[in-house]
Amino acid sequence: MTNLVAERRAPEWVSDLHIDGQAEPGQGKILDVLNPATERVLHSVAQASLDQVDAAIAAARRAFDRGYWSTMPGEERSKLLHTFADEFERLHDELSAGIVCEVGSPVTLATSLQTAVAVSVLRTYADLAARDRTVDLGQDSGTIASQSVVAYRPMGVVAVITAYNLPLLILARAMGAALAAGCTTVVLPSPKAPLTSLLMTRAAAAAGLPDGVINVVVGGQDVGQRLGTHPDVDKVAFTGSVTVGRHIMAQASNGLKRLSLELGGKSPSILMPGFDAAPIAYEIHARYLRNGGQGCAAPARILVPQDYYDEFAELSRVALSEIKTGDPWDPGTTVGPLIRPEHRDGVRRQVQDALQDGASVVAEGPSSDQPAGWFMSPVLIGGVGPAAPIAQEELFGPVGVLLPYRDLDDAIEQANGTAFGLSANVYCDNSQDGIELAAKLKSGTVAINGGGAFRPDAPFGGFKGSGFGREYGEWGVREFLEVQHVQWPL
Ligand code: NAD
Repeated sequence: MTNLVAERRAPEWVSDLHIDGQAEPGQGKILDVLNPATERVLHSVAQASLDQVDAAIAAARRAFDRGYWSTMPGEERSKLLHTFADEFERLHDELSAGIVCEVGSPVTLATSLQTAVAVSVLRTYADLAARDRTVDLGQDSGTIASQSVVAYRPMGVVAVITAYNLPLLILARAMGAALAAGCTTVVLPSPKAPLTSLLMTRAAAAAGLPDGVINVVVGGQDVGQRLGTHPDVDKVAFTGSVTVGRHIMAQASNGLKRLSLELGGKSPSILMPGFDAAPIAYEIHARYLRNGGQGCAAPARILVPQDYYDEFAELSRVALSEIKTGDPWDPGTTVGPLIRPEHRDGVRRQVQDALQDGASVVAEGPSSDQPAGWFMSPVLIGGVGPAAPIAQEELFGPVGVLLPYRDLDDAIEQANGTAFGLSANVYCDNSQDGIELAAKLKSGTVAINGGGAFRPDAPFGGFKGSGFGREYGEWGVREFLEVQHVQWPL
């Protein structure tokens, strides 16, 4: 990281799409990708024409149907995926620098969650590619004596559509699982941050993956729609907003496509009665503020016992005053810029609306000292009820909401009382209390006292409006496998 910080340099970008193993310039409109920390054009790429999208799907179809990937022995596929993970890791510094430039993620996050963790995710999938999942059901002595096995078959061609905030982690967890299962892929990164996904194609080429197994196209809604409706796409693995997720689901219904949807959240942090947050108040806030609050699982609703509200508010004033907003290349920065000015203005508007409706500012962080960039200082909002829009809607910005609760039943009701169910944090003196509370939370993940280090073998995904399907580990791979019962008479 020291070199990266010293050099502060964008990597050498890849401008071409990746179709059927070949680099190919886009034939569509030019897309200017902006650096949200400088407001300048970072790089321009030509988007895919719809004919090129069709060509990418056809390449993935051919690669799947010819079987050299889908029916390749698991051990061999595993080896190739490990080579791909090695090549991806070789690009770690370029990819990290790319993330700082195109997403505005602070360098500490760009080098860890956005890249190093993506490598560990790819490696876990590479291991899982070798697993034989066949189940022998044994003999049945019914009217026709028979034998059965249950086999797992790859679903086919997968469109991997990713969100802008964690481009490489999302790519690694969705595309990596699809590849481990034996599927072939067409990746569409967000047009707001497509450059590191294009850079990743260097790893795909160097790893010697068969042509057509990984294709990457760049484009907007029209390209996403083509992928979501094309008859040769068998499954759509989508990560993004609830609004677009609904479109994807409607689009997929005609072809009865398989779907996984990783959507938004409004996750709670519950401080259990008696818990003293003083030693970790900074951490509680940093958890939703990292990446400028642009995290699907950001625990931006903080639920505290009502008689602890004032004390926690005071701790929050100190914590937020220590959170640095600004230059994403600075290792001391927690909050980088928001992706686009209209997004930042929208978040500010939601805060203003809440204040007009009677909310108050409990704590604020210092402003950015940068001459440009779409920065917004962190703010903690109080004085609202759990049904207020600011306590219900995903803002995707550096905004927390402090909510008092009467007793634990009230805390559970509030924690579960949104349309979402992606992640929950529980803070308590005794982990066992948190483990018992987890059973009552409608949430795909529950982290007690901070949980632990990232586990690429543990499932992640949403209850309710946060979507369906699971990422990572065995759960992730199974999202891309069909179950087949094979039976024969004896
Ligand atoms: P978005 O929904 O605006 O865009 C996501 C992707 O969908 C982009 O690649 C976009 O090009 C594509 N798209 C747009 N219209 C389409 C259409 N009609 N058909 C097919 N594809 C289409 O989301 P965003 O702004 O990039 O990301 C932010 C959202 O993503 C937040 O809601 C966040 O919570 C969510 N997210 C969820 C997770 C998770 O794991 N649950 C992870 C990261 C982000």
